Amino acid sequence: MSSDCHYDIVIVGGGIQGVAVAQAAAARGYSVLLLEKTALAAGTSSRSSKLIHGGLRYLESGQFGLVRESLKERAELLRLAPSLVKLQPFYIPVYQQTSRDTLTIRAGLSLYALLAGLGKDAGFRSIPRNTWEELDGLSTRGLKHVFQYWDAQTDDQALTQAIMHSAASLGAELRCPAEFTSAKISGEICEIEFAENNQVYQCTASALINAAGPWINQVAERISPLPPIYPVELVQGTHLVLNGQLSRGCYYLESPQDQRAIFALPWKQHILLGTTETIFKDAPEKTSPSIAEEVYLLGCFRYYFPDHYITIRERFAGLRVLPASGNTPFGRSRETHLQCDHPKYPRVVGIYGGKLTVSRVTAQKVLHTLRLSLPVRIPKADIAQLPLKLP
Ligand SMILES: Cc1cc2nc3c(=O)[nH]c(=O)nc-3n(C[C@H](O)[C@H](O)[C@H](O)COP(=O)(O)OP(=O)(O)OC[C@H]3O[C@@H](n4cnc5c(N)ncnc54)[C@H](O)[C@@H]3O)c2cc1C
Repeated sequence: MSSDCHYDIVIVGGGIQGVAVAQAAAARGYSVLLLEKTALAAGTSSRSSKLIHGGLRYLESGQFGLVRESLKERAELLRLAPSLVKLQPFYIPVYQQTSRDTLTIRAGLSLYALLAGLGKDAGFRSIPRNTWEELDGLSTRGLKHVFQYWDAQTDDQALTQAIMHSAASLGAELRCPAEFTSAKISGEICEIEFAENNQVYQCTASALINAAGPWINQVAERISPLPPIYPVELVQGTHLVLNGQLSRGCYYLESPQDQRAIFALPWKQHILLGTTETIFKDAPEKTSPSIAEEVYLLGCFRYYFPDHYITIRERFAGLRVLPASGNTPFGRSRETHLQCDHPKYPRVVGIYGGKLTVSRVTAQKVLHTLRLSLPVRIPKADIAQLPLKLP
């Protein structure tokens, strides 16, 4: 590739946020290049809890806008990607010792249903006491109530690949493995260098999107002039895949140790258990589950499912990008933050934080932010009508 190769948009990072921007931009008729240094979804986007959800617990911290937006997007993804995003029953057991009482949880579920638009996926109910024994061996000692509501599950890696497939069918170009190494912003042009197969390539772009997930500030530091850096902390979340099955659906549990939410989910004929929140200070590629996290998660699972014989098949850890603050990670905002190098005519946009669930919405916000920096193009498609599936 020579220096006369020009794109409207170059994206760094082939996680869910990078591919979502690639799809949305290509649909609007822009020429797009996406650079991914390892493999699609090699970072956080294959290490999440794999939920397409509103985030019931975000209601407690007052993040109503995020919950409403996520529930709307859940409905969209159920419609556009039925082979990849599936509705699941979720059970919330309430025990004598549970920190949130039945009334509080009922109020939360009612608000969740309201924010979901009171449709058929929005309802919740109480599970009759005489059927509690059928709930996958859930402990009934001190159990007062069991609620059931609906949310959705996906395969995060497959969803990322499916969105990239859609982007590519609209003309977006993917270079992988190709590592972004530097960019120089000169007036209206971004001069970009990347390495592929031990060779250095150059291209130019009207806009550069930094969607490098936990590597975001490392990538930002390779851009000259240095764009404003948003202060963040990386927070590790570990999951365990256990042998065994949950045949009834997903369980929304409260850790007996610190009252955090823990999910036990059916996952490819096994059980996915997570997650933790541990401040992480090392290089992002070094993220890995710790013994303490494993003990914490297994302790929670044994507490609620004492009769399951547990063996671990797999462990994995991912990194959340959360705003730096004095709060515990659990209480920090999950909103996506867009950091631009210019308030009106940005050339560089960094996508900080966010959720798998709202990545397509974030992509639209990125393009809106760039509307005055990009040339006018003829749209090719409406992403609200594009099905998402693996080839
Ligand atoms: C434990 C955990 C559980 C979660 N659970 C959920 C959930 O259930 N539901 C939900 O909606 N959200 C969830 N999230 C949030 C969601 O997973 C993330 O917001 C999302 O995956 C982030 O995607 P991303 O594209 O920003 O980053 P990533 O997926 O990390 O992608 C960044 C990519 O950039 C690439 N890259 C980095 N540097 C370069 C470079 N120099 N050149 C080229 N490429 C580069 C990396 O290789 C990587 O592939 C969870 C997050 C965590 C950590």
